[in-house]
Amino acid sequence: MKFRNFKMVSYVVYGRGSFNQLDEILVPHRKDSAPMIFLLDHFFENKSLATRVPVRGKDKIIFADVTHEPKTKQVDALANLLKDEFGSVSGVIGIGGGSVMDLAKAVSLMMNNPGSSADYQGWDLVKNPGVYKAGIPTLSGTGAEVSRTTVLTGPSRKLGMNSDFTPFDQIVLDPELTVNAPVNQRFYTGMDCYIHCIESLTGTFLNEFSKSYGEKALNLCQEVFLGDGTWGPEQDDKLMMASYAGGMSIAYSQVGVAHAVSYGLGYLLGTKHGVGNCIVFDKLEEYYPEGVKEFKQMVKKNKIEIPQNITKGLSDEQFDTMINVSLGMKPLWENALGADWEKIMTRDKLRALYERL
Ligand code: NAD
Ligand code: ZN
Repeated sequence: MKFRNFKMVSYVVYGRGSFNQLDEILVPHRKDSAPMIFLLDHFFENKSLATRVPVRGKDKIIFADVTHEPKTKQVDALANLLKDEFGSVSGVIGIGGGSVMDLAKAVSLMMNNPGSSADYQGWDLVKNPGVYKAGIPTLSGTGAEVSRTTVLTGPSRKLGMNSDFTPFDQIVLDPELTVNAPVNQRFYTGMDCYIHCIESLTGTFLNEFSKSYGEKALNLCQEVFLGDGTWGPEQDDKLMMASYAGGMSIAYSQVGVAHAVSYGLGYLLGTKHGVGNCIVFDKLEEYYPEGVKEFKQMVKKNKIEIPQNITKGLSDEQFDTMINVSLGMKPLWENALGADWEKIMTRDKLRALYERL
């Protein structure tokens, strides 16, 4: 048995208004005249948060278009733009949802690694540390703030740059930044965390480390999405910590069926991670009976619509593409169904599941 020796985020600050400390946090990481690059979610263009970004000297704010989830092409274009304009930069600071945080991690890595980010999709392929990078979530749930990956859609696959160089050097967890999140988006991204918990806690890779974080995150999700009262600061605070703890839980275990199937939807149809996971999880009563029951209660209580019939009319070839992408996620299936998963999740069984989505 080889135990994972995992690299964590180096510094964490948590609290309402902690974003105001960003300037002093960044000062020691500024190198001569090399600028800090702030990648801001395009939602914040012309919003007050953009005016609070602590720009100095040649620093640059780039509004990142996250209409679609990050692509290797987008990462390469951003890194090349920065190399052309500045040569080197002091750091890349990602302020936004999981998409912007992943973009920031990937751009930081590509400032110091040759070629295309597509060359590094996989496990431990990244050669050199990136430039200093910080992540500041404005949506809670993905756990991208703590993970060692950055999920990218490339020319031939949807896969992360998983490496010890990938985690942020600093994260700033300020729940105030999530206050504007639309109800549906907040739910979908929040459910990403809930599903991380269920998949981790019921998986065959579970251990006490993952369980400790997973149970806490699960409780927080239950309080937030099934508790009394309307949504307010308390819920934002709790969901931000649930995201962190849920991310820590899967760091030492793995996700499962919903993620494996949702990756296929994302690759073929561009379905986004949060809503894709909800579409799949809604139909997984066979694998996660209690979790799916509770999920349905959360959907009802929060008056959310889960899209239906999204695979209607797809061709055999398209179903095959999704099945291939999904079955490629071997560790996820092994965690969910055990070492003999290939006997359980046959292509026919997976096709039938995709047809129900
Ligand atoms: P997102 O980052 O894709 O953002 C969804 C939408 O919400 C966007 O339109 C964005 O502009 C908007 N938005 C962001 N913050 C907002 C705010 N405060 N108010 C209003 N709108 C806001 O959504 P997400 O669910 O946070 O992230 C999904 C992405 O994260 C996917 O690309 C997925 O692959 C990735 N992901 C990464 C990891 C990891 O470990 N690296 C884990 C899970 C998911
Ligand atoms: Zn997820």
